[in-house]
Amino acid sequence: MAEIHTPFGSPVPGFEPGVSPPDEISETCWWLLFCGSRLLVTPLETGGFQPLQSDECPPLPLVSPAIYLGRLNGQDCFCATVARDSMLTGKLCMLGLHEADEHLSPSWVTLGGRSIQLLSWERNHRFCGVCGNELFRSRHQFFKECPQCHHKVYPRISPVVMVLIHRHQQLLLARAARFPAGRYSILAGFVEAGETLEQCVHREVMEEVGLEVEDLHYADSQPWPFPHSLMIGFFARYRSGDIHPDGHEIVEAHWFNKNHLPELPPSISLARWMIERFINTRSHTWP
Ligand SMILES: [Zn+2]
Repeated sequence: MAEIHTPFGSPVPGFEPGVSPPDEISETCWWLLFCGSRLLVTPLETGGFQPLQSDECPPLPLVSPAIYLGRLNGQDCFCATVARDSMLTGKLCMLGLHEADEHLSPSWVTLGGRSIQLLSWERNHRFCGVCGNELFRSRHQFFKECPQCHHKVYPRISPVVMVLIHRHQQLLLARAARFPAGRYSILAGFVEAGETLEQCVHREVMEEVGLEVEDLHYADSQPWPFPHSLMIGFFARYRSGDIHPDGHEIVEAHWFNKNHLPELPPSISLARWMIERFINTRSHTWP
């Protein structure tokens, strides 16, 4: 199967990742400034938006230390969080990254997602969980270390499996209790300690809808920085069982034909990309 590039996971041409700023910083830098999960942006004359350059940044107070991201086409990039009550002036506005794919280039969506994850780590891991001392960031890798007991804390990443179950030409779509009315998607669940991704697929499918599946195939993955998930997609063939939604996480689940689909998750999600790949792939490859 061809690799797909989802928002948040697109390659960033011209980007060299880094951990610490170089001795000589570029004359102008990119600043990805966040207020919660919303990015401060400025409009482009050609349409869309982009993050701020250093000479456009208003004097906003930062609520945690800035983090160096790397260099994009020769310009150093930083991210930081500003106070929630920051007043914006001029043409500046804020954009939620959830809906940003329509307004930002794929490169900025990817770097914005990376920034949210690193800023969440910076904010939520200030002290050692073993001895309570203040943690310090390494200059060489993304981890923090306690100077007292040398406990290390890395940015948190929580793996989640997603599974598109197919049976002949149909796919299984389910309504989670938290979804907006009318929306369906494929199944998803957090990987538990001591579990492989494949074991997680079988367990989640059995727990949520009471089915057995087989013939698992990896589809693709997507960082989902709200705040630190990594989505890992699989296609799986139905093996046995009748659909029994668990009634807690999943309130409804049905088989759907490719040409009669309900409202689907937004195009920014890996789930949507997997559903579209299934419905657009020639039928003989889905036994
Ligand atoms: Zn410690």
